[in-house]
Amino acid sequence: MIEGSCLCGAVRFSAAAISGIVECHCSMCRKATGGHAGFFFVAMRDEVTWQGADKLTRYESSPGLVRSFCARCGTAMTGANLKMPDETIILTANALEGEVPARVIAQEYCASKASWAEGHDGAPRTEGGWPGWESLRP
Ligand SMILES: [Zn+2]
Ligand SMILES: [Zn+2]
Repeated sequence: MIEGSCLCGAVRFSAAAISGIVECHCSMCRKATGGHAGFFFVAMRDEVTWQGADKLTRYESSPGLVRSFCARCGTAMTGANLKMPDETIILTANALEGEVPARVIAQEYCASKASWAEGHDGAPRTEGGWPGWESLRP
């Protein structure tokens, strides 16, 4: 089982299977998922079970394209699905827990990549929290 949950735990999904994960750099996915990109995978709608689905809030980010997120903590849980009914559903990889038997297999809308997330391979990496936060005061 592929398991996912929001930050506060009010909403959970489990999917029967996962194939690949797509990284979307469009500005809508960046804002919707709160990162430098959105990460999504496709599941068969009738193979997904939800807990706390009543806590999901839906937002139509483009005509006919509906995303949903936890109303309590804001975690994005679904991507911009095609119009209903659709036999597939797009779930956020960001919400996944545990071992995930899939990897990112494509990046899309790369022309919209966030410039602030480019070229930072040389930035310091720490196992835990970065000790330099205080140095960031502008
Ligand atoms: Zn939540
Ligand atoms: Zn996108």
